[in-house]
Amino acid sequence: MLLSKYFIPVLKEAPREAEIVSHKLMLRAGMIKQQSAGIYSWLPLGLKVMRKVEQIVREEQDRAGAVEILMPTIQSADLWRESGRYEDYGKEMLRITDRHERDMLFGPTNEEMVTDIFRTHVRSYKDLPLNLYHIQWKFRDEVRPRFGVMRGREFLMKDAYSFDLDEASSRAAYYRMFVSYLRTFDRLGVKAIPMRADTGPIGGDLSHEFLILADTGESEVFCHADYMKLDVPGAGVDYDDDGLIQSIVEDWTKSYARTDEMHEEALWSNVDAAQQMNARGIEVGHIFHFGQKYSEPMGAKVTGPDGKDVPVYMGSYGIGPSRVVAALIEAGHDDNGIIWPASVAPFDVGLINLRSGDERTDGACASLYDQLTNAGFDVLYDDTDSRAGGKFALADLIGLPWQLIIGPRGLDNGEVELKNRSTGERESLNNEAAINKLMTWQSETKARFGG
Ligand code: ATP
Ligand code: MG
Repeated sequence: MLLSKYFIPVLKEAPREAEIVSHKLMLRAGMIKQQSAGIYSWLPLGLKVMRKVEQIVREEQDRAGAVEILMPTIQSADLWRESGRYEDYGKEMLRITDRHERDMLFGPTNEEMVTDIFRTHVRSYKDLPLNLYHIQWKFRDEVRPRFGVMRGREFLMKDAYSFDLDEASSRAAYYRMFVSYLRTFDRLGVKAIPMRADTGPIGGDLSHEFLILADTGESEVFCHADYMKLDVPGAGVDYDDDGLIQSIVEDWTKSYARTDEMHEEALWSNVDAAQQMNARGIEVGHIFHFGQKYSEPMGAKVTGPDGKDVPVYMGSYGIGPSRVVAALIEAGHDDNGIIWPASVAPFDVGLINLRSGDERTDGACASLYDQLTNAGFDVLYDDTDSRAGGKFALADLIGLPWQLIIGPRGLDNGEVELKNRSTGERESLNNEAAINKLMTWQSETKARFGG
């Protein structure tokens, strides 16, 4: 991509209302634009990152056996009357009346709708287990939308719903999603710690939140230092092996990890003081097991092997890709801007022409651009006539993993400069060595994050 043909509406200064670093940087880097309180447009750079986050989430849902569908954003209030949640949900629900005076709503979540799909099409235990998910916009009329896309009113959510014949198989389904979340966040290049959670208005008895540690997180967290060194299962993990999956969950839940809402001093004091981590965190995922809470009132039944009909056992599993984008910035930035994890960076390399319009640097850049693009790199080429300082500042702000800098002085010596955004290291190399170094990084990145 040529920067001159792209659209990154950079702001010199972040608007005052932006309180936290991710909100400031997303505005400054031209990733989002607010349209109303808590409602944002996603501009090219922001959208590119969010799509990459979505894709990793999707791949790990698929790997764990979930099947993608797409449900609408607008739902009928009647479905919610069946579960009893239409009245209960309160002011967070955006209620709409259509031209026929029918009560509709903009979905804050989809338990009712997916239960309706299930009861229409599934009758027998032989069709179970089943897990259906979608990645769709949600609306919750938050009292205090703030921190940009971190707490929006309209936000993107991946929500999966599992259906099983009995409690035991339903728990196994919950464990599969738990493990897929470990893998998802690992591939997103962050540490997310599962913490025992309250089930809230959704109800049920088994629930975990996944939190990314960051100073600006809304939740206070208390967790054992063990979580910093636990292994995440590899791409080959066998989701059909219930015993294995359960043992991974046990490893990841045996040490203390709670947010302030669920914190218990008495249990915490049993943790060796040297191992106590008291930090802040951002909730990026939340999984629930709630059994027959919706299937019972909505009549979603399956016939078991004994010929008896039972309301199906369910769980629901959410991740907010739009919030994840902001959380990744909270976890990865410095004074100059964003530092993206390799797996979701909007481009791999920023190619910087220090003297656009100069025949020699233009030629060298064009040739490097072609070579890198052909080798499978996503390159953003700064071919504009901005000054060098401005180009460097922009490259640091948008946080691509590498900057490849081409100037007349380097070319005199047959060299280009390669800068690593996260370490700040700069190296002068000839073209071939620079490309080789990037290729090595590319294959390491694929091995580490590719799945
Ligand atoms: P919170 O406690 O932060 O308000 P929640 O517990 O109400 O969130 P869930 O129903 O658990 O949210 O939603 C699942 C996921 O959807 C969350 O883990 C988060 O990633 C995302 N999410 C929820 N609310 C928002 C929001 N207002 N803006 C952006 N993402 C959100
Ligand atoms: Mg939650």
